[in-house]
Amino acid sequence: MAVEVWWSSLAAADRDLLGILDATERARIESLDRPADRGRSLLGAALLRVAVASHLGLAPAEVVVDRTCNECGGPHGAPRILSPGMPAPWVSVSHSGVLAVVALSPHGPVGVDVQRLSDLTDPRAGRDWVRREALLKAGTAAPEMERAVTSPVPVQTDATAHELRPPLSGYVAALVTLAPADTELVIRHWPPAQG
Ligand SMILES: [Zn+2]
Repeated sequence: MAVEVWWSSLAAADRDLLGILDATERARIESLDRPADRGRSLLGAALLRVAVASHLGLAPAEVVVDRTCNECGGPHGAPRILSPGMPAPWVSVSHSGVLAVVALSPHGPVGVDVQRLSDLTDPRAGRDWVRREALLKAGTAAPEMERAVTSPVPVQTDATAHELRPPLSGYVAALVTLAPADTELVIRHWPPAQG
């Protein structure tokens, strides 16, 4: 089965999307002060549901997302999909600027990261930045790698790092998966282009 990468932009962050989110997701959005942060949080949560729903053959509102933090038990951890009776995909979500991206893998932990270059202190380090973030999200970066901010970041064990091409210029993105090297990578855009 393919690894899927779903892209969307804030242009799609309609208030109606709140209707497919759960109470935890809505509370998180309401807790944010800045409209841009609320929009990105809404878009990331909705895109995750749309992508997983498509994969599992459910409606977006039916997807069960667990965000229990491994450290404190609060509702702000990395998302996990709960799907009793069906194999749940591993997922990762990132947003920056006006873009959101979701990665979904049936082949174990996955990490995705997108970054608007103009938000970085050193935009030239953007590629290494997103690669490191994606490695950390996939849980494959050793602690020594977190300390040693070197470039390029070595890929540990059988993880594969891919450079992704964001749908807008001025952004960089990376994907790390544990999928076999010959696994197909499917790129989707949401909502799909009209016509
Ligand atoms: Zn916590």
